[in-house]
Amino acid sequence: MTVYSGPVFEMAVNQFNVIANHLEIPMDERDRILMPKRAVTVSCPIHRDDGTVAVFEGYRVQHHLTMGPTKGGTRFAPTVDIGEVGALAIWMSWKCALAGLPYGGAKGGVNVDLSKLSKRELESLSRRYMQEMIPFVGPHTDVMAPDMGTNEQVMAWFMDTYSMYQGQTVTEIVTGKPVANGGTLGRREATGRGVAHLSKRVMKELNITPNQATAVVQGFGNVGSYAALELHHYGLKITGISDHTGALYDANGLDIPALMRHTSAHGSIAGFSNQLAFDPADVLTLPCTVLVPAALERVIDAKVAENLKCRILAEGANGPTTPDADLVLDKRRDEVFVIPDILCNSGGVVVSYFEWVQDLQQLFWEEEEVMRREYKLLDRAFDQMLLRASTDKISHRTAAMAIGVEKVRAAKNTRGLFP
Ligand code: GLU
Repeated sequence: MTVYSGPVFEMAVNQFNVIANHLEIPMDERDRILMPKRAVTVSCPIHRDDGTVAVFEGYRVQHHLTMGPTKGGTRFAPTVDIGEVGALAIWMSWKCALAGLPYGGAKGGVNVDLSKLSKRELESLSRRYMQEMIPFVGPHTDVMAPDMGTNEQVMAWFMDTYSMYQGQTVTEIVTGKPVANGGTLGRREATGRGVAHLSKRVMKELNITPNQATAVVQGFGNVGSYAALELHHYGLKITGISDHTGALYDANGLDIPALMRHTSAHGSIAGFSNQLAFDPADVLTLPCTVLVPAALERVIDAKVAENLKCRILAEGANGPTTPDADLVLDKRRDEVFVIPDILCNSGGVVVSYFEWVQDLQQLFWEEEEVMRREYKLLDRAFDQMLLRASTDKISHRTAAMAIGVEKVRAAKNTRGLFP
């Protein structure tokens, strides 16, 4: 019996079983590594603008506490449930371990449709969620960050709420804050930059010149927009973009800086151009050099995997590819180079780690320093993944996850089982 249920959690379990079989982890050791240590569910009541009271359900799952504090984002979306949050927390653990960060994974969220909240209501919900979490989080216990539906402003409210209760400013309680509130330079761009940097590395391996390459990006939030912008700076033509309102296609390349100005003014790509409008259902199967799914999990199933026409699949989202799709991609290894999510999008948590370190030391770095260190960690993890994949003759995802799982397992085994 478990409280975690649903397709996303099942997917995390299935993926883990593949790794555990590959690593020949004994059956009686598996649950200790896989199952989340703690899960908290809270009710968050807020005053609505119309004078009524509404209650939203919030969650936080801390996957393992073996290597240091837990770390991970907070998601505000109508899809959020304990199973999804649990799966995302597990993935954060493998991601942090692969990158060499001293963290276990965590994830949190509130089941809410943000389009139905005013800015004031969003602030109330953010503050109440953090207030409910105070007994369970801390700079050395669990450090939150942005995820889908949350941003720097929400992190500033989280930090302020926690700090007001402590009676002093505690910047290191969350990462992804505004720079003016103890955030780091380069965090906002970090995930997208990492996706683009690793895609460029793969293009180099495959002898593809960026100027002759194209990219398609699904999702134009923090990850997708900065990935598109950075790939655009590298010289790629971004031919397709989609978000929750629709999609745009231009064989000559979309004007990404103009699109970013549009989305920051209007909140989505809607209204940018009617001429370039395209069916979002076809975005993932457009021919391109680099495909970046940067939206929801489970968008690439076996059927989509069969039809992918990209050379490189750079997974900006968490869990975009199902285990069934992995079986297909395994057979298409020579056609599609997969940069698995826990590596591809890890630039975000890597720079979150730098933010936490800078906050603890109250010593802040130049943006160049942040980027140099980010790319160094990503390159190291990428090299380790490639080596492992070729030595063990396994897929990139299995290799990346095996490295992460192995590190968590080793840390648990050497610490031993208490008492
Ligand atoms: N939510 C992001 C992720 O899924 C960032 C987490 C963090 O920075 O702690 O990796």
